[in-house]
Amino acid sequence: MLGMPRYDKVKFMTEILLKYLPHGERNRVQKHRDYRQKIISNYQPLHRELYSMHPATTFVTPFLKAVSDNTEESFRRIMSEPSPGVFTFEMFQPQFCELLLSEVENFEKWVNEAKFRIMRPNTMNKYGAVLDDFGLETMLDKLMENFIRPISKVFFAEVGGSTLDSHHGFVVEYGEDRDADLGFHVDDSEVTLNVCLGKQFSGGELFFRGTRCDKHVNSGSHSEEIFDYSHVPGCAVLHRGRHRHGARATTSGHRINLLLWCRSSVFREMKKYQKDFSSWCGECLREKKERQRMSIRATKRELLRREGESTA
Ligand SMILES: [Zn+2]
Repeated sequence: MLGMPRYDKVKFMTEILLKYLPHGERNRVQKHRDYRQKIISNYQPLHRELYSMHPATTFVTPFLKAVSDNTEESFRRIMSEPSPGVFTFEMFQPQFCELLLSEVENFEKWVNEAKFRIMRPNTMNKYGAVLDDFGLETMLDKLMENFIRPISKVFFAEVGGSTLDSHHGFVVEYGEDRDADLGFHVDDSEVTLNVCLGKQFSGGELFFRGTRCDKHVNSGSHSEEIFDYSHVPGCAVLHRGRHRHGARATTSGHRINLLLWCRSSVFREMKKYQKDFSSWCGECLREKKERQRMSIRATKRELLRREGESTA
């Protein structure tokens, strides 16, 4: 057991922990597992090579080099940070994007032919598919562990970036006969990787409006938090899940993006006992600074008063 790969150990432990979940939750987990098993035992993958991680044929060379060097400097060399907390960089080889797109297309063809009812990626997207549901879970786990976690450890440590331990991986499709846009929201993730896979499109820009905790999610944004990003195929955007954002309408063509919502169970557990999120929530930080300003002002006033008393 001890010498087994990490993935098998996790599977083993998940099996044990399942017995301790509340009944309703256990049912839900079991049902989803049956659903996934039903797909995997019936769907014939088109490109088998996609189902295990092959870094050399997946990523562009500068990205591979940066991750293998594994320092803040090496990441900064390939990444831009056009707005605080939003990182963009070239990530996938065009060939890999094409393979993944054709695999997703093949999966959807199978879904239609088999008249299989699939679950969509989330409540906001009517089009798209959950990659974890048709066999890509292990590959995406490797993507998170070996490539996204080292980067998140450096740039998103305050939201559990170094302890990311589960993910939700899916593709979303926009354009004619697909979803048009996506409203303003936060993701159910600590760190989100969003990579454009193609194809030809116009519009579809991402707009960002600052990071917020649960309590402040609907508060206003400040001018320095307003940022728009235009997708480029093969290029990734990495941001905190709590960074509020949305996607403008894809006005022509067809746009498909890969999303990897990375989660940290450690961070989620710790968060329950905290009230101040000024290390990442823009509004908590503003309130904290305001409190400090008030307290300094009060101290000054008190000192002046005492001085006045002593000279009187
Ligand atoms: Zn807050």
